[in-house]
Amino acid sequence: MKNIKLAKCAGFCYGVKRAVETTKRLKSENNDKQIWVLGELIHNSHVINELSNLGIHTVDELPAEGCGICIIRSHGASPEVFEDIKKKGYEIVDLTCPDVKKVQQKAIQLIKDGYTLVIVGKPEHPEVAAIKANALIYGKNIIVAPDVDSLKDYEQEVKSRKKIGVVVQTTQRIENLKKIVDYLTGISKELLIFNTICSSTSLRQNEARNLAAESDLMVVVGSRKSANTTHLAEILTGIAPTIHIETAKELEKHKDLLEKSQNIGITAGASTPQDIIDEVVAKLEKL
Ligand code: SF4
Repeated sequence: MKNIKLAKCAGFCYGVKRAVETTKRLKSENNDKQIWVLGELIHNSHVINELSNLGIHTVDELPAEGCGICIIRSHGASPEVFEDIKKKGYEIVDLTCPDVKKVQQKAIQLIKDGYTLVIVGKPEHPEVAAIKANALIYGKNIIVAPDVDSLKDYEQEVKSRKKIGVVVQTTQRIENLKKIVDYLTGISKELLIFNTICSSTSLRQNEARNLAAESDLMVVVGSRKSANTTHLAEILTGIAPTIHIETAKELEKHKDLLEKSQNIGITAGASTPQDIIDEVVAKLEKL
């Protein structure tokens, strides 16, 4: 009999839960109105299909002539995007996660206080792009770097500035932030760091690390497009053999590994729905 253990923090975080539940509620309360979501509400095709079946449109750009409610997802958006939605005549429902709002506020505070702002995260990540866009209104000295190697390209710029302030995309790995802080400490005159990794991410990553330490195999469930799920898999790979799957069906590809593992731990990203996690657990329990 195998020992299968599911992490307590697996699945939707409160920001994602709030975004999905509010979007569905808005549709049921406003059935006569069109509901639009700008960009994927969460990185999970199962949820996007579910929303589409409810008549909720996921779009990269709003039709110039349209009407209804436009939802800003948990990643946030730039002031220009808010302006554009209003101009086109849509009603806005802002579901930016409160933790993401806090990062935007810290970034603005640093820029206003004369710091050169370093945002730790991938430039193309929508949350990072929105943090940068919100800070850009108050100053131009902004560096975006996903890791310490990318930050080294800006070494001369960092050395020439008096004050460096750091914020972090909410689902980053703490190890990544530590390396960046270590590097910046050596080359900055004044350094102020806001560890803005959200508590939901910290809890999830810490719990998964502990579970991996007592497991022969870790199964990470969630979309490969989801940054926080990918980060989880990266962290766990260094502790125990780890497989990253999107659905229970993919377990079939790992039959040999599953058969020889006695203690199997399961965790899931912040955008993984509970029914997908349940299917994975049920399939593993059948082994
Ligand atoms: S991962 Fe953190 S910041 Fe992102 S939506 Fe969830 S709670 Fe909010």
